Amino acid sequence: MKRKSLLISPELCIGCRACQVACKSWNQLEGTKTNNRGTFENPPDLNPALYNKIRFVEVPSDKNDMRWLFVSQRCMHCDDAGCMKICPSPGALYKTKEGAVVFDKDKCIGCKLCVAACPFDVPRYDRNDKISKCTMCADRIAENLAPLCAKTCPTGAIKFGDRDELIAQAQKAGYQKVYGQNDLGGLGAIYAFKEPPKFYGMEDKPQIPESVVFWHKVLKPLAVIGLGGAVAASLLHYAVVGPKKDKEEKKDE
Ligand code: SF4
Ligand code: SF4
Ligand code: SF4
Repeated sequence: MKRKSLLISPELCIGCRACQVACKSWNQLEGTKTNNRGTFENPPDLNPALYNKIRFVEVPSDKNDMRWLFVSQRCMHCDDAGCMKICPSPGALYKTKEGAVVFDKDKCIGCKLCVAACPFDVPRYDRNDKISKCTMCADRIAENLAPLCAKTCPTGAIKFGDRDELIAQAQKAGYQKVYGQNDLGGLGAIYAFKEPPKFYGMEDKPQIPESVVFWHKVLKPLAVIGLGGAVAASLLHYAVVGPKKDKEEKKDE
């Protein structure tokens, strides 16, 4: 089985957000009340019922006006996935044969370590404290169907297919550097950028935090030798996240 990927081309995106709606529809994610904040992006951030958000970027153009870019933000399905590395509950996060990083809510213990370990700030938690994020439509791709966001996109800004072929297509189209081609073992959501990644609001070199790598080696095995997932998770959480509070806690303050 060849590794599959999503190829995202912000220059082709018109910001219609059909992909956001399609994702909600396929994954039966509830609608959430939002406010018009005078921007083309809505809701303002990923949430447990929003796996794919179109981020609006406004940058000066060389024609002395503004250039609008729309960048899909979602799980990157990293080969070397920080979330999987740190997760102390076996089977809560796993990889499919196509390369999608998916979750099993029944096995998620709600420790939120994956939030600290994700270089892209992706995982969110539902009202039952269970992880929620893009699955690359693993149920669809197992049946040889494209993820619904890719199938719905009217401009080809989200494409799905064999990873090597998508990279070759992007290079043939003149994109010299495909973002995510080699980062973190190679991402499963790769981007055709015309400009440096920072232009699109992305890190040049995404990395798993050092503390996560270290504590993954030291503490995670404790869960395996019998300390228990929840206890190991508490120690890991203290070591990795420390006094940093998660988004929900911050919002309530
Ligand atoms: S459906 Fe395609 S064009 Fe529309 S917002 Fe999504 S990525 Fe952009
Ligand atoms: S983007 Fe974050 S949540 Fe997705 S696979 Fe990578 S580390 Fe995990
Ligand atoms: S791949 Fe599927 S789950 Fe992920 S953003 Fe697209 S529609 Fe949503």
